[in-house]
Amino acid sequence: MKHCLSTHIYFILLFPLLLGMLSCRTDGASGEGRPSIVLVIIDTLRADHLSCYGYRRITSPSLDSLAGAGTRWSMGCGQSSWTLPACSSIMTGLSPRVHGAGMDVPTGRVFGLNHAMPLLSTHMKGAGYRTGAFFNVFWLGADFGFHRGFDTYECVDNGDGLAGETIDSAINWLSSLGRDEDFFLAIHLFDPHDPYDPPAPYDTLFTPHGEGAMGDSCWEVTPEGAIARPSQLAHLQGLYDGEIAWTDEQLGRLFAELRRLGLDQRTVVMVTADHGEEFLEHGYFGHGRTLFQETTHIPLIMSGPGVTAGAVEDAPVGQVDILPTILDLCDIAVPENIEGVDLLADPDTARFLPASGINTGDAFDLASITARRMKLIWNAGTDHSSTYDLVHDPGEMDPLPADSVLLGYVLFYWASPCRLEPILLEDWKVVPVLRDLGYIR
Ligand SMILES: [Zn+2]
Repeated sequence: MKHCLSTHIYFILLFPLLLGMLSCRTDGASGEGRPSIVLVIIDTLRADHLSCYGYRRITSPSLDSLAGAGTRWSMGCGQSSWTLPACSSIMTGLSPRVHGAGMDVPTGRVFGLNHAMPLLSTHMKGAGYRTGAFFNVFWLGADFGFHRGFDTYECVDNGDGLAGETIDSAINWLSSLGRDEDFFLAIHLFDPHDPYDPPAPYDTLFTPHGEGAMGDSCWEVTPEGAIARPSQLAHLQGLYDGEIAWTDEQLGRLFAELRRLGLDQRTVVMVTADHGEEFLEHGYFGHGRTLFQETTHIPLIMSGPGVTAGAVEDAPVGQVDILPTILDLCDIAVPENIEGVDLLADPDTARFLPASGINTGDAFDLASITARRMKLIWNAGTDHSSTYDLVHDPGEMDPLPADSVLLGYVLFYWASPCRLEPILLEDWKVVPVLRDLGYIR
């Protein structure tokens, strides 16, 4: 209880401080050249567990401040339910069917991006930016080609608990840059991913009776998904929320350092997630099993020169939009045939946003199309589809008959040709690691 009280007080004190730190950002372009960019991908972060997305707990004072000083997109649509295809969409501006990275579900084979596929990092490097990456998951490893385009590249295979060290590394890297050097800093933080074991005081901050971490036995992974006793739900969610709050605190340190170094006035910060997390909404825990909102509704927050302050955009947007938005901001030509759009241009409220890719559960892959308030989820093996009204049925509990327009779009999406032949994982040294972890068969 002592920890709870002291941390609540800490939040109360920190919140206005962070607001003050970040609110001085302008709502117009600085007019002094191109901005530098910080892109943060938080693993397994569902949007609706952030305070600024309406969550009942104060889990994210730093991100709330960032959103208040910038623009928050309320309808962020992740392009997949697990890391590899989703992060590939962020880095390429292409949907999973088009970039090709992910699992061929019927066979269990995993494919990575073709190493000739242009990435956000290669574009930034090509435009003369100093580029640095600090990643925490093997899916973003050099074996998968995600080192390409980075002058400095550090990636840990399993960076659970390393948000603090990762932010330290990023801060050291920022401090090493020349004063007027344009930079692109990409950070991936793994901590909200299971196991849920945040450091004190976050291990007890949100759990019902101040319980700590549950260890490795909090659930059992079956071929259908991860199962745990429903009685553990509140405890698991409390620990998950603690991981988010711990990660948010580390991001607060990064934002403070940008200001201390005088970089905040010429740096655009963008924060997003690769996918969310299930908590029994549809029977299981974890992610990678479905395309329901708990796994595909991702946060998207942006702040800095050229970004409107205090805005909330309700138009549907996706991870594919991140690459063209950053390139446009930096006055770098956006490649043709990119599927995303510039988030800072007039919003297109009539978009059809695709998602696909699971790695457990069903024997066949799933694909979905989200358009305005409606969403259709389609099974590639059975051809079964369900439509949901996300306004009247945000929990996706009452499937409607297939919507013929959405069905047409999802079939069109599924038939999209892959831009460059993806690489079969069998040839890579990470295969034994992935097999041990149960990712591949
Ligand atoms: Zn992930």
